Amino acid sequence: MRAALLESKKKISVGTQSDPVIPNDHVLVSVTSSAICGTDVSIWAGKMPANIPLIPGHECTGTVESIGSDVSRLKVGEKVVLNPLSSCSSCFYCVRGYTNLCLNGGLRGREVPGTFAEYISVKETEAFAFPDSVSFEAATNFVGLYTVVYSQRKAPYIPGGSVVVLGQGSSGLLHTQLAKISGAEKVIAITRSKWKLEVAKKLGADEIIPTGEVDPVKAVLELTDGLGADVVIETAGVEETMLQAFEMVRPAGTILQFGIGPEKISGVPGQSYYFKDITVIGSRAGLPEDFERSINLVASGKIDLEPLVTHHFPLEEIQKGFEFIDDGGDGGTLRAVIQVSS
Ligand SMILES: [Zn+2]
Ligand SMILES: [Zn+2]
Repeated sequence: MRAALLESKKKISVGTQSDPVIPNDHVLVSVTSSAICGTDVSIWAGKMPANIPLIPGHECTGTVESIGSDVSRLKVGEKVVLNPLSSCSSCFYCVRGYTNLCLNGGLRGREVPGTFAEYISVKETEAFAFPDSVSFEAATNFVGLYTVVYSQRKAPYIPGGSVVVLGQGSSGLLHTQLAKISGAEKVIAITRSKWKLEVAKKLGADEIIPTGEVDPVKAVLELTDGLGADVVIETAGVEETMLQAFEMVRPAGTILQFGIGPEKISGVPGQSYYFKDITVIGSRAGLPEDFERSINLVASGKIDLEPLVTHHFPLEEIQKGFEFIDDGGDGGTLRAVIQVSS
C-alpha cells in the first residue's frame, strides 16, 4: 500500500509499505482523509518523542473494506472514524474503562503505526460508524470533538453558568459550541485572531474578546460582575493563557486545563487553590463513549464540524502540508486534511 513514513525529524517520504494484517477481531479500513493535528506536527518537528521511523497521523476517516471473522459491530462499506488511541483491553486502566490511559497501547502515529496510509487495520471497538451526511474530511474532527466532549463531561456548572474558552483553534471552537448547546448562559470566546472570533460568534459565543486589543482578564471580570467565570477552559496550552485562567476563574469555580501545556510553567499562583477554593481538572484524550456522543451531536445538527477544515493536501504533498502548518498556516488556517484517497 501507499503510505507516508516519518523517517527522521521533519522528513516524511511517501512510498510503499506492507499491507496490514487483519486479525479476527479487526476491521480493515480504507483511509479517505487524515487531518494534520498539532500533536502530529510536534512529533514531526522532534518536540514529542515517538517510535520513529513510523507512519504518522491519528485523526482519520475512511470506509470499512473488510472485517475479521469475529466482527459483528461494523459492516463492510460503513463510513468510520478511528479512535486515535490503540488500547490493550486488559491492563489496570483498560479494565477500569480508562482506555485513554492504557499501559500497553498508545497514540497512532506516535507509539503505534498511524493513519497517513491507504489502509489501516484496527480492533472493531476502535472504529465508529458515522452517517453519510457528514463528509470524510469534516468527520476527521470527530477526533477533536470526542476529546472536547470527554473533558466537558468532567466539568461541573455549565448549564446556566458563565464559561470562558481561552483559544479558538479547532478545539477551542468545538468547546465554544459544546458549552453553548450544553446550556451555558454566557460563553466568552478569547483569542488574538479576529477572524476566529467571528467564527466563534457564528458557532454560539455570546461575547468575544480580542486579546491584542484589550486585557482579557479585565474584560472577563467586567462581563461577570467582577467575580470571574464559573468555568474557564484553557485550550491553547501556553503558559500565558494557563496563568490567565487562574485570574479569570471565580472563587469556587473550575479551570478545565484542556490544552497540552509546556512541560513546566512558572508563576502558578499557588495560594489560589486555597484562597479561591478552585478546582483544576486535567483531561487526556477521551473514552469510546465520547465518540458515540460526538457522532450523535453532529448527526442531529447541534454541532457543526464543516467550518473547521480550511486546507487540503494530497498524500504525495504531505511534507508540504506539515511545513505549511508548522509555519503557522496562511492566517486563515484551522485544520489541514491530507486526502489519502477519494
Ligand atoms: Zn490530534
Ligand atoms: Zn490497556
